[in-house]
Amino acid sequence: MNLVIFGPPGAGKGTQSKFIASKFNLHQLSTGDLLRKEIKNKSILGSTISEIINKGELVSDKIVSDLIEKFISSKNYKNRLIFDGYPRNINQAINLDNLLKKYDQKIDVVLELSVGLKTIKKRISERQTQENRSDDSQEIATRRFETYEKSTEPVIDYYKKSKLLKVINGEGSIDEINVEISDIIEGI
Ligand code: ADP
Repeated sequence: MNLVIFGPPGAGKGTQSKFIASKFNLHQLSTGDLLRKEIKNKSILGSTISEIINKGELVSDKIVSDLIEKFISSKNYKNRLIFDGYPRNINQAINLDNLLKKYDQKIDVVLELSVGLKTIKKRISERQTQENRSDDSQEIATRRFETYEKSTEPVIDYYKKSKLLKVINGEGSIDEINVEISDIIEGI
């Protein structure tokens, strides 16, 4: 199965993706992690990416699409992918459908972690002290949330229409959310 995990910055997508990946033998494909890897490599592409991420904006659709196609096209990951942080706008959602079709796959379920702004702010400021991510400063985190509302939220409607969407209360504890997600996946 392939699944998409969806939610605002700080919703817990990464934490839950890691849990699902190990429990169901899937592969977590985090576009944020892939982009941060590019930055670490200190390539020209990396410096362009770093500039955009540190403004709280979205990296270009083409850059991210090229990164994920490597995984979608690989036999090792066929029907084993958790898309964590992709798609982030409607164009990416359409692109993901097309890429999956090209490699004879599809999305089986979309999990939306629904979390309020107050919780998000609290979690991001906690993460800031633990991971020291440059884009977790309060100012950039606020920009990322605005980007989410403007570009990413419309994608929820896209998946509602295709009946793939399952909404999960992301305010619960990590364990509670784990259980809720496991039940959904086991029911598919
Ligand atoms: P979070 O979900 O907490 O915002 P991520 O690690 O998923 O963190 O993403 C960090 C940043 O990487 C985003 O703010 C954005 O700039 C960039 N990014 C990640 N995924 C994408 C994507 N699919 N398209 C464009 N930019 C992306």
